[in-house]
Amino acid sequence: MKEIRKDIFTGQWVVFNTDLKERMVNFWLKREFNVPKLATCSFCEGKENETPPETLAYRRSGTIPNGPGWWIRTFKNKDSALIPDEELDRRPVGIYDMVTGYGVQEIIVETPEHRTQLEELPFNQVRDVLWSFKERISSLKANKGFKYVLVFKNFGLGTFGSMEHSHSQILATPIMPRKIKDELIQAKLYYSDKERCIFCDVIKQEIRQKERVIYETEHFVVIAPYASNSPYEMFIFPRVHSALYEDITPTLANDLTDTLIITLKKLSKVLSAPPYTLVIHTAPNFVPRPGYWGTVQYDYHWHIEISPRLFRLSGLEWGTGFFFNPIMPEEASIELKNISV
Ligand SMILES: [Zn+2]
Ligand SMILES: [Zn+2]
Ligand SMILES: [Zn+2]
Repeated sequence: MKEIRKDIFTGQWVVFNTDLKERMVNFWLKREFNVPKLATCSFCEGKENETPPETLAYRRSGTIPNGPGWWIRTFKNKDSALIPDEELDRRPVGIYDMVTGYGVQEIIVETPEHRTQLEELPFNQVRDVLWSFKERISSLKANKGFKYVLVFKNFGLGTFGSMEHSHSQILATPIMPRKIKDELIQAKLYYSDKERCIFCDVIKQEIRQKERVIYETEHFVVIAPYASNSPYEMFIFPRVHSALYEDITPTLANDLTDTLIITLKKLSKVLSAPPYTLVIHTAPNFVPRPGYWGTVQYDYHWHIEISPRLFRLSGLEWGTGFFFNPIMPEEASIELKNISV
């Protein structure tokens, strides 16, 4: 059973997927925190028959789909909580709200190499990974049933279903994630007051002050956010205003490749390959509905958030929604800026 239910007390959505019940309970009871190693990895080249059919692949000419010869490959996540052929239905259940488990969850395998991490890959390979994100986001957004498409990456978290082989994931949902909604609301309020993009203003001030700037290129800037949610958190912003990641040009993709490689290498060196999450926050799918996020192209500014996960959330965070961070971003940014990679 797959179903999305709204928490009536907080407005937060919860995705249920009972297909994973047994494996998830066993994972916990047996403490099986080891991730699949080389011998059992289904993301490696030559194991294409162990994954669902590919939705996109960059492969050498003359090779056939779902066989070897690729350098980037995307396919449906076998453990997806959401399914594309489910009928999209929103309904009240008495006082509650639910949506059917309609959506898409995909895996983007970033390299045929099992052991190489994203920041260690050659420049062209990383650029193609970033390009594949653009292609998949655009393709999934063509379906207006999806309100949001999120690209994210987990590294080293050791959570259920973790894979060692370098990969990212993509999630397309018929509901707006709470985190995005919060950002959109702040951005819209700021814009309606000042007629300026909140992100552009932050970027300008940070570049002027230099206190939290970690790395700069012609088209991008990496900063430690003023209220970093986690120690050594980093946001990557394009300098020129743009609401949609998927509008990225080849020139920008090249520059972002350099920025991302350097940023991840710095993080890895400062904290010795810490677990982290990476998310790409792009604007939601533009659904033609009157008054619906009408100014989003002007007030929202896409960005990448990289957050080291050095400890688990505690009662403090769960109970309050506050984050606990023992490291000031001004300090973190100096360390990250000064470390050579
Ligand atoms: Zn592998
Ligand atoms: Zn902007
Ligand atoms: Zn964001």
